[in-house]
Amino acid sequence: MKVVVQKYGGTSVGSVERIEAVADRVSRVRAEGAAVVAVVSAMSGETNRLIKLAKDLAPSPAERELDVLMATGEQASAALLSIALQKRGVPARSFLGHQIRIGTDSAFGRARIRNIEIESLREALGAGDVAVVAGFQGVDDAANITTLGRGGSDTSAVAVAAAIDADACEILTDVDGVYTTDPRICPEARKLDRISYDEMLELASLGAKVLQIRSVEAAKRFDVPVHVRTSFDDRPGTWVVGEEAGMEEILVSGVALDRDQAKLTVVGVPDRPGLATQVLAPVAHAGIVVDMIIQNVSHEGDTDLTFTVPQGDFDRSLEMVRKIAEDIGASGVVGDPEVVKVSVVGLGMRSHAGVAAQMFEVLARENINIQMISTSEIKISVVLDSKYGELAVRVLHRAFIEEKPDD
Ligand code: ASP
Ligand code: MG
Repeated sequence: MKVVVQKYGGTSVGSVERIEAVADRVSRVRAEGAAVVAVVSAMSGETNRLIKLAKDLAPSPAERELDVLMATGEQASAALLSIALQKRGVPARSFLGHQIRIGTDSAFGRARIRNIEIESLREALGAGDVAVVAGFQGVDDAANITTLGRGGSDTSAVAVAAAIDADACEILTDVDGVYTTDPRICPEARKLDRISYDEMLELASLGAKVLQIRSVEAAKRFDVPVHVRTSFDDRPGTWVVGEEAGMEEILVSGVALDRDQAKLTVVGVPDRPGLATQVLAPVAHAGIVVDMIIQNVSHEGDTDLTFTVPQGDFDRSLEMVRKIAEDIGASGVVGDPEVVKVSVVGLGMRSHAGVAAQMFEVLARENINIQMISTSEIKISVVLDSKYGELAVRVLHRAFIEEKPDD
């Protein structure tokens, strides 16, 4: 029998009317002969409401209790959808994370799934029931309730789909798929029919609005095809899948704008072995994720080291790096929070040289200065002054996606 995992996000279960619509949809899939596992998020706004309650009581509530609290959002949705299904004569049973048993580590608020016991799910499906699973939650070895990080129900769905070897994992949401770029920036953006896991991971800043990035890592690891589509009608959305024949023919699949970047330059670093680590290791130890890094060698025998960090970590990084610069005898630190990162991503770059050159040419034509460059096998990213971010996205989208470049 065909087994389908369907994940319904917050807006899809955001009201009694929406839950009724979801129940109709689940009933239809079941009537077509599939066994259905429905993974649900909390009703939209609910998780934020719960967090606010806790923070109104205490500025930094214990993470363990926050997880107990946040998990109630999904618990409510699971019960409500089961009730709506039963009203339609569809046998349904809700399952919480500890009942299925979605085993995680003990990192409250950002737990990782370690193993899933699926006997209870199998038994429910075997009996003809729809299994309604509370997303976002798990249980650690000491029987504490854990949650998987914001947006974590996507990861719950992919992990359950992998564990029960489902035929499909549908992520039903309020957008109709993954777009070539942000349609609010570029009205010519179009929906992709298919995209590979690796491209989706590289487009994180674009894709994160659609799917929790961790769920894409899980889908890749367990080779679960994921279909992101709207829950509001029956149109197909975007398939996120392993690499397939023909995918490399598309040079650029997407253009992403990451506004969450700030730049720091340590100027006049004495050029000797170990300096990059002296500057960057303390930053990494403080839990700050360094993204792009470049080092320029000067003629006088010292170098400039430039790197980017998330906006929220800028002040902290600047303070830290100023101290380090003093210790190692660098001449100073320059910070610039007004930067963005623009990336073009596509499997086709592997076999086509010249994408970078063309990208730089397109930006130069608009007089956009490139501050930093980094490349991977399937991505080219540039750091720009933030006032050029949207313009860069539009001209690159036009050059690489609207008008196919000559190959
Ligand atoms: N309810 C959780 C959140 O808002 C998990 C999810 O929706 O996937 O982040
Ligand atoms: Mg979500």
